[in-house]
Amino acid sequence: MITSTRETKSVIVHKYGGSSVADAEKIATIARKICDRAETGVSMVIVVSAMGDSTDHLIELANAVSGDQTPLARELDTLLSTGELVTSTLMAMAITAAGHPAVSLSGQQAGIRTDTTHGSARIADIKADRLRRELGKGRVCVVAGFQGLSENEDVTTLGRGGSDTTAVALSVALEAERCEIYTDVDGIYTTDPRLVPAARKLVEINYDEMLEMASLGAKMNPRSIELAAVYDVPILVASAFEDVPGTLIHGGPQMMEIRRAVTGVAIDRDVAKITVRAVEDRPGIVGQIFVPLAEAGISVDVIVQNASLEGLTDVTFTVPRGDFQRALDLTKETCADFAQDVVGNTGLAKMSIVGTGMQNGPGYAATMFAALSKVNVNIEMITTSEIRITCVIDARMIKEAANALHSAFELDAAGG
Ligand code: ASP
Ligand code: MG
Repeated sequence: MITSTRETKSVIVHKYGGSSVADAEKIATIARKICDRAETGVSMVIVVSAMGDSTDHLIELANAVSGDQTPLARELDTLLSTGELVTSTLMAMAITAAGHPAVSLSGQQAGIRTDTTHGSARIADIKADRLRRELGKGRVCVVAGFQGLSENEDVTTLGRGGSDTTAVALSVALEAERCEIYTDVDGIYTTDPRLVPAARKLVEINYDEMLEMASLGAKMNPRSIELAAVYDVPILVASAFEDVPGTLIHGGPQMMEIRRAVTGVAIDRDVAKITVRAVEDRPGIVGQIFVPLAEAGISVDVIVQNASLEGLTDVTFTVPRGDFQRALDLTKETCADFAQDVVGNTGLAKMSIVGTGMQNGPGYAATMFAALSKVNVNIEMITTSEIRITCVIDARMIKEAANALHSAFELDAAGG
């Protein structure tokens, strides 16, 4: 942890997501809570997202006026940045009305400098002097998330869900003790509670596990977690409205809970599979299959190549469902001369067990396969990382599989 040598009060950074600031009433409710906290004498920086689905509506408008052209990236970024400005200005008014002085700042005014990649800009630097000055005057600073200013002095946005990244980056720049992210879920769960009634809210989870589980519960932006990990800024994920304990994402050893090898079961429904059958098994062939996919911007995930039989092999890989048709057509074209055929289907899901504690222990894969077989779930593909084991299964079996794994690894609420 970086410690400040300056004689300044410690800064608290909060971030409120779009659903938590979706209407005037919600903004006023949150403003009153912020006001109470600010009145205790702490310095507060509040990062806000655009209200509700307003970013989606702005994108629709941009598409509507652009006809069959892609909206201009520079104009689109400035347009989208206005969604967050609506919230930051309203929130500053609401906090002031609740009784504590507040000021709104755009990304630019907050000193957030980015590269020039419109639509997914990366933060290069934060010049926090203005923020510090405002905090020094005792004002709550409400910063519009998701935006910055490029070296060309154009407004940029950080990619969908980018306000989380703004909040973590400001926490780093202001040496905040932690970054608190308030959202419409009350924390990170061991798995999807809608599928597994025994799912438990985690008291804490480490950065690596959170990155793997990012598809779960609170839809955390992976970039913000990476950034938090690099600078070791703990993130608290908690409910914007309910006063219940949230989940702390951090890098230290987990001491508050008895260590478990497996922290959670992650479920990804966005999986399609493509198989190239009876492809010639010689150097360069696999490269020939995957290079065109990479050039088309399609990310390939799990890849399996079978042992070859009489010089022929099968190659199977997964892609996001949205890219399935494009990937299938492209692969058929590529493989026309050296494979028998290309087939695929979209009805798949990835079930993963995640946990840093698995790193050195044997037997987790065996327990996972046994648990799945007990509920008659067929495993189509398997892949692992140091802290994750993933099985690709039939999407219709998600519920059975998730419940079986949750209890096989003793994650159920009763055991917690
Ligand atoms: N408003 C932007 C989005 O909807 C950024 C954010 O919510 O963090 O993606
Ligand atoms: Mg949003």
